[in-house]
Amino acid sequence: MEIKKDIGLKDSLTIKEKRYRNFPMVPRVIFGRGCFDQLGEILMPKRRHSEAPFIFLVDDVFEGTSFVDRIPLIFNDLVVFVSAEEEPKTVQVDALVGRIKTEFNELPSGIVGIGGGTLLDLAKAVAICLTNKGSSCDYQGWDLVVKPSVYHVGIPTISGTGAEVSRTTVLLGPEKKLGINSDHTTFDQVVLDPDLTKGVSKEQWFYTGMDCFIHCIESLNGTYLNAFSQSYGEKALELCKEVYLGELSPSESRDKLMMASWHGGMSIAYSQVGVAHAMSYGLSYLLGVKHGIGNCIVFRHLEEFYPDGVALFNQMMRKQKVHLPSGICSDLTDCDYETMISVSLGMEPLWENALGKDWRNIATREKLKSIYSRI
Ligand code: NAD
Ligand code: ZN
Repeated sequence: MEIKKDIGLKDSLTIKEKRYRNFPMVPRVIFGRGCFDQLGEILMPKRRHSEAPFIFLVDDVFEGTSFVDRIPLIFNDLVVFVSAEEEPKTVQVDALVGRIKTEFNELPSGIVGIGGGTLLDLAKAVAICLTNKGSSCDYQGWDLVVKPSVYHVGIPTISGTGAEVSRTTVLLGPEKKLGINSDHTTFDQVVLDPDLTKGVSKEQWFYTGMDCFIHCIESLNGTYLNAFSQSYGEKALELCKEVYLGELSPSESRDKLMMASWHGGMSIAYSQVGVAHAMSYGLSYLLGVKHGIGNCIVFRHLEEFYPDGVALFNQMMRKQKVHLPSGICSDLTDCDYETMISVSLGMEPLWENALGKDWRNIATREKLKSIYSRI
């Protein structure tokens, strides 16, 4: 793809020379119902010695369940249960890194994240910060990570974000919500076991799955689109339609949504997201609205940008009988609106991808205010 500097949320795309990004992919992936049970043999060759443990960061929704007995613990391996109620924070990453360094004399053999985007992002960030000095907030941005991270494995238990394939980990820091975008962020191994997503609630299944759907719509309708992104985006969109509008069995549906998430993530890796993500970022920053639901809440008001996508989205909502909250912004002050609008408009590459070089004349502060006030 032709890029004008690496596409990052804050970089302006004005550097003229033609450059193509050489981006990393997950080198190893295993897919299949029940494949989680092969984790022990996958990790074994990566164990440096008995004093260098594996640290499993696990969504606390699994605490006390029989799933925990299937985690292949040996030697001094450690399981840390982490709540996904809130999106990951730099202070949380720093505390986990501090704890691991204090409890063990050695660097761990690896970090394994088990959960949704929240746990996957935490695992990526902890793996980076175990080998790179200072706070995780020092690395929020583009290509600031200096040293390779500790070996890290991602095991999604809910499908949609594409965090399992991306080269970013989105963190809320003291000053900004921004990803650690680097070649060292991408997982070394991913385990795709659709059965792990069995316990997800209907609402959450919809919100996180729609994150994938919206990735496809924003990528396929963006000005950064190229054959690479299109091929993945079209496949992911087709899978989303089968899952949310078709009549699949539950197990087929879990398989297909897991692959949709993967393809959706690959699609945006080489293009960019768009208006829904830019505006959802503002909501998340001000009100702490989570990524999946935030995207849904915004997306249904974006007919003027994505008419076909919004029509499909509404069809999927009706079919799945999911309801979204409304009136989210009804009590906000002018100052709150200004904050959300500024955060959103700061996502320049997203707007440029969505609306082209002239985006500033289309995405005006008044336009954003009128959309926010309706949600
Ligand atoms: P999540 O990790 O926030 O989890 C959502 C809810 O689902 C939580 O309550 C969690 O406990 C529950 N859950 C997860 N698996 C479950 C299971 N098998 N059974 C029952 N409950 C389960 O959800 P998400 O939507 O996957 O992730 C959102 C996060 O991902 C945000 O922090 C967002 O910033 C991040 N994200 C990252 C990227 C990336 O490329 N790095 C991309 C998109 C989003
Ligand atoms: Zn997203």
